[in-house]
Amino acid sequence: MRRAIYPGSFDPVTNGHLDVIERARKLFDEVVVALAHNDEKRPLFSLEERLALLRETAGKIDGVRITQFKGLLVEFARAEKAGAVIRGLRAVSDFEFEFQMALMNRKLDAAVETIFLMPKEDYTYLSSRIVKEIANLGGDVSSFVPTCVAKALNRKFTR
Ligand code: ADP
Repeated sequence: MRRAIYPGSFDPVTNGHLDVIERARKLFDEVVVALAHNDEKRPLFSLEERLALLRETAGKIDGVRITQFKGLLVEFARAEKAGAVIRGLRAVSDFEFEFQMALMNRKLDAAVETIFLMPKEDYTYLSSRIVKEIANLGGDVSSFVPTCVAKALNRKFTR
């Protein structure tokens, strides 16, 4: 069983994340989408809301499991018996941070390999942050996120 972890904040999940998950699924028997607890990030959606949106979207893909984790990613990967961590690379701007994280994780556990996947070109400019900004300004986000996410964003921003 070849298993990979796809960690992230998913605040909220976008079509870019889903594209990466589908690509990862072609390489691994199981992709574990793991919502990281990170209090510093002050998310728009609560952990439960983000998990529910992931379950409703990525969770419907065969061979994809949704879960959450606290603490060190490499320890979580070990506990899950996963040999790889998936990260998405959109542009050069992602590179420096991702490179640092990948090498630090390798120092912590050399057995866990980080694999970078590039999304479809249409999604290279997409991020959870920009989707939230557009929705907050009343823009249409329906081509960037699944329908349930667009609805959840509308609910958050209609006061
Ligand atoms: P994090 O807080 O860990 O960066 P995100 O949910 O923002 O969590 O992103 C999780 C992973 O998905 C990261 O590797 C990020 O680069 C990648 N990612 C986010 N949006 C896209 C996208 N549009 N295309 C490809 N990868 C993406």
